[in-house]
Amino acid sequence: MARSFCLRQESFKKPLDTLASLAKKFTVQIVETTEQPPCIKHALEILSKGENLPHSGRFMLATYLLNKGQAIEEIAPLFKNAPDYNEKITLYQLKHLAGNFGSGTKYACPSCEKLKSENLCFAIPECANIINPLQFGRKKISNA
Ligand code: SF4
Repeated sequence: MARSFCLRQESFKKPLDTLASLAKKFTVQIVETTEQPPCIKHALEILSKGENLPHSGRFMLATYLLNKGQAIEEIAPLFKNAPDYNEKITLYQLKHLAGNFGSGTKYACPSCEKLKSENLCFAIPECANIINPLQFGRKKISNA
């Protein structure tokens, strides 16, 4: 019994070694540009002009930037031109979205489909095949 188990183990060894050496050859790198997707650029533009960005747009912008790793203190000033800006409330809301309170849930950035339905999407050809703004600018490079 022990001998047949050893034999079976041996029979797996060769294909596994082959797969391991193939995996070394076929590595895929993900390269990401720093360019922001058009929906985010548009939201930033609206805010910089001091125009009113709807709640859904503010949610998109904040969750996008938080999920990109930006700090709350860096994001908050972006909203200061909004007609109804209140620093305390903005910081509170950003902390809530970042999961700093209660259950600790960090909010996800809405999907492109949802943003389209909210008229917040300004797709360009580079948006093809992505389902969330966070994927914008990511390219897979295979060195096979
Ligand atoms: S397709 Fe997605 S990433 Fe591109 S503009 Fe629309 S919502 Fe933004």
